[in-house]
Amino acid sequence: MTELHSHSTSSPVPDPLPVDHAFVCDACDRRWYYTRQHCPSCGACEWSTYELEAGELLAWTDVAVTPNDVRSPNRIALVRFDDGVQLLAQATDDPMEIGDRVTFAGSYRLRDGGRADAPRLRPVE
Ligand SMILES: [Zn+2]
Repeated sequence: MTELHSHSTSSPVPDPLPVDHAFVCDACDRRWYYTRQHCPSCGACEWSTYELEAGELLAWTDVAVTPNDVRSPNRIALVRFDDGVQLLAQATDDPMEIGDRVTFAGSYRLRDGGRADAPRLRPVE
């Protein structure tokens, strides 16, 4: 685990936070993925960020009906990283099976004009 940044209420969330980073509460060690100002377990507002490495593919599906300018089919995968953090994200079109090791394949912009980059997952080779 690589500690990159500590947070307190006096400093903002790093912007942009790399899509392969998660949060760990400085008070209770709870870990989570999506940006929050407070720990979802204890409410503390001091936490650090760290890089997620690899996890286990729990499920995936190809979504055939997608909004305009979103790829179709759009593969979505659920992964549990080794520290317990779970994430639902777009996956590459590489062949994958439940139980495979997966990691981040960078980020993508869901649609033109979208606000933020989103994570994309791929099998570990
Ligand atoms: Zn906490």
